[in-house]
Amino acid sequence: MKLLLANPRGFCAGVYMAIDVVEQLVDIYKGRAIYVHHEIVHNKHVVDRFRRRGVKFVDSLEQVPVGSVVVFSAHGVTPAVRRQAVERRLIAIDATCPLVTKVHLEAIRYSAKGYQILLVGHADHQEIIGTRGEAPDAIQVVSSPDDIPHLQIKDPDKLVYLTQTTLGIDDASVIIDALRNAFPNLKDPPSEDICYATTNRQKVVRAIAPECDLVLVVGSKNSSNSVRLTEIAEASGAPAYLIDDTSELEDHWFDGVDRVLITAGASAPEDLARDLVLHLINKYGGEVEQRDIFREDIEFGLPMTLKKFMRSQGVNPEGRRIIRDDAESIDRWLEDRGVAHKTVPMTLGVT
Ligand code: SF4
Repeated sequence: MKLLLANPRGFCAGVYMAIDVVEQLVDIYKGRAIYVHHEIVHNKHVVDRFRRRGVKFVDSLEQVPVGSVVVFSAHGVTPAVRRQAVERRLIAIDATCPLVTKVHLEAIRYSAKGYQILLVGHADHQEIIGTRGEAPDAIQVVSSPDDIPHLQIKDPDKLVYLTQTTLGIDDASVIIDALRNAFPNLKDPPSEDICYATTNRQKVVRAIAPECDLVLVVGSKNSSNSVRLTEIAEASGAPAYLIDDTSELEDHWFDGVDRVLITAGASAPEDLARDLVLHLINKYGGEVEQRDIFREDIEFGLPMTLKKFMRSQGVNPEGRRIIRDDAESIDRWLEDRGVAHKTVPMTLGVT
């Protein structure tokens, strides 16, 4: 069996940062309770690993004792949640991805200029709930073209659209085209809201899936970008499954299968993808070919709220970043385990 390993895959800069935030707090706030508002990132293993180390995940700040430390997840929160944290005298550490914050700021700016905002995304996703909360009277969520006839539009010449950062690029285009048809003077956002990590992972799957018999996406079912990767693989004609780990594999998926693409959503730890690779090689034999398509070098520093808190605890935040496990080091990892492998640089012919 040939395993094609997508690169980039797995953690993005926002997820590295959000996980770093909780890691730092676990390290410097030893023995005291740390609360996280919602899942820090949408991955079962990441959350379970922190839970085992004593971190408490809550759905509401009512569950957080007055004066405690609480982390806002990578998906962002509404201003109402931030106000509630102040009212409860919580020490709030904001791990919102800066690329989500960018969309919040766009929403605030356009609403202040009197625009109505059409927010393309999934209404029940934490990120959309957070962004919508910035200007609830100005924002309407559009999840599909079917929503367009139900929109309440005051002035079709003062309309802008924004998008969730983790949408499928093609799905978003269909909705945006339908919006443009309905409202020809619809304004574009100042820059692309679907983030670089979502875009890169989707482009890689779209490029490689057509040459595979099966696609396995490592990620959790509530991870929007992981679900989109699975849908894109299926649309390319290959059966595709989204799995948290090897325990969810089913033998019949591999009947007659010769080439398998493995990728991972932006919130899925690299060790789970490697476990999957090793499991399949041990079971079916074969070799690994990493397809190296994009080099990602974006990094986000620790949030100001965390740095301030660290200083209050007598900890210098400089140089405190946790070392990240890098997908590029997989060659040595495979070599150490005696797995035949190669890395093949690949260009997509598109930018
Ligand atoms: S997927 Fe994109 S927006 Fe979401 S955390 Fe990662 S970099 Fe940020």
